[in-house]
Amino acid sequence: MRDLRISVTDRCNFRCTYCMPKEVFGKDFPFMPREALMTFEEIDRIAGIFISLGVKKIRLTGGEPLLRRNLHELVSMLSLRDAEIAMTTNGVLLPRYAPALSAAGLDRVTVSLDAIDESTFAAITDSGHTVAAVLAGIEAAESVGLGPVKINTVVKRNSNEDEILDIIERFSSRDIAVRFIEYMDVGTTNGWSLDEVVSASEIRDIIGDFERITPENKSDVAKRYKLPNGGEVGIISSVTEPFCNDCTRARISSDGRLFTCLFSNRGLDLLSPIREGATDGYVADLIREQWNARKDRYSEERALHSTKKKEKVEMSYIGG
Ligand code: SAM
Ligand code: SF4
Repeated sequence: MRDLRISVTDRCNFRCTYCMPKEVFGKDFPFMPREALMTFEEIDRIAGIFISLGVKKIRLTGGEPLLRRNLHELVSMLSLRDAEIAMTTNGVLLPRYAPALSAAGLDRVTVSLDAIDESTFAAITDSGHTVAAVLAGIEAAESVGLGPVKINTVVKRNSNEDEILDIIERFSSRDIAVRFIEYMDVGTTNGWSLDEVVSASEIRDIIGDFERITPENKSDVAKRYKLPNGGEVGIISSVTEPFCNDCTRARISSDGRLFTCLFSNRGLDLLSPIREGATDGYVADLIREQWNARKDRYSEERALHSTKKKEKVEMSYIGG
């Protein structure tokens, strides 16, 4: 266990069709009540326990993490701990919050951007936000030292595969690495089908045949390629070339449940014992036991699951 993703909210200001489709996550959707969310003190304490168990990198995510009020206060608490702190965001609120986050000790941001073309972006994100606003967010992050920024691009068939080259062209000369991500069957609300997955090998065909960069760690999820202009591009192939065996990632939902796989349906409640007065040692034992017993390899077994419907939690809840 080396990486911990912490979801700080299940809410979002986007309605990406593959993640929080408006028909499901509409005005009446029952988001988590405030008292169910971990407080910053609880998050910090849980993070400390994970760090004592070997975690080296913490990523704040959601939902949209920048919707959590005063997030910089959490970052300044976490920054006193011995771990790198990163965040994944849709980017539009970065111009407002990047300076405080950087001052508080945030190390890096990854910004999600699925298209450069405004109308394609609007169709995917379904929320009235613009590419221009995301680009302004990237600039803001870079200007306060939150770089090198990485870009996450989910590729979905008949949606944005024709954006791949434009996105590379826009960012590769600027020390911004793009990661193309296969569209995954997380949750149950996005109506996923295998036909809509643009596979890693198709993405490689579009990008071109470039030299592979040797992975730094066995657990690196992106296959990275060197571009002729010195930039790099990565592909995350969790559907067609799964990497369950090398996974070192734990996830905590915003109500404090531990998930050992993105495709889990049940999380281990850590927040209740903490609120009932459990010691750090007790909680560490719970985590260790759960982690050591994990048998998750959903992506490797996907074909088996496709015949029987599996209950899975949503990405916006578990933290992407
Ligand atoms: N709201 C933030 C954002 O979009 O960056 C953070 C949370 S979001 C759930 C984290 C990442 O998960 C994003 O890069 C998003 O594109 C990705 N994601 C969401 N649903 C996905 C799916 N079904 N398949 C692949 N990636 C997905
Ligand atoms: Fe929100 Fe991120 Fe999901 Fe898009 S991918 S709906 S920005 S949580």
